[in-house]
Amino acid sequence: MDENLELSFDIPDTVLDEIQHNIEEIIQSFPIPDDNKLDVIKKINFMYTQTKYLSVTDGLTGLYNRRHFECNFEREFLRAERYNSKLSLAMIDIDFFKKINDTYGHGCGDYVLREIAYLALQTFRKTDMVFRYGGEEFVVILTETDIDNAIIPCERLRKNVEMYPFSYGGESFNVTVSIGVCEKKSDVSTAFNLFEYADKALYSAKNNGRNRVCVYSEQ
Ligand code: GH3
Ligand code: MG
Ligand code: MG
Repeated sequence: MDENLELSFDIPDTVLDEIQHNIEEIIQSFPIPDDNKLDVIKKINFMYTQTKYLSVTDGLTGLYNRRHFECNFEREFLRAERYNSKLSLAMIDIDFFKKINDTYGHGCGDYVLREIAYLALQTFRKTDMVFRYGGEEFVVILTETDIDNAIIPCERLRKNVEMYPFSYGGESFNVTVSIGVCEKKSDVSTAFNLFEYADKALYSAKNNGRNRVCVYSEQ
């Protein structure tokens, strides 16, 4: 793990001050030869960074987790509102994932989750943020992106998954994903609305045959 990993993780200054104070107290409470003090501080610093990293990461896929999504999504929504910038949200759900588990076992299901997480990271821009939201669901925050430009990587991911040669325990098989996408337009007044609309678009993708990208549209 990268010790210098930059994380956009909000910890209030008061909490940071308290942690710093506690670290100093711990160090003072047991005798460390002066020569080793720097190593001890480095070690504590590393453990602290590691804890921060684990708290925002999904252990199976290595993607950011749902908690981190919730922190970032609200903030990106408010930022887009304030600076009048574009923002889109995509929700991705693996099709018939239960069947993959039931047919090839949960180890295979886990393998599929990891591969799709990897494909998503490869497909979206570095400025987009990919999260594992829940079981076989992923969300992507596409900053500075309108709907036309959000559809492009979503469609690319859909195709990349469809074409990917999944293989586990000597079995080869295909997997598809359904994707719902929505742009923050003036009628989308809260982050929750945007999330709900992307979710509705995902349900349209499911109801219209799966393995497709659907855009939210008011009915
Ligand atoms: P649909 O096309 O409608 O999305 O059908 P689906 O089978 O993908 O959806 P459903 O919600 O019925 O099943 C999701 C499955 O995902 C059920 C659950 O056991 C599995 N799952 C959730 N988290 C994990 C995980 O971490 N690993 C594995 N292997 N399976 C998981
Ligand atoms: Mg699901
Ligand atoms: Mg599913």
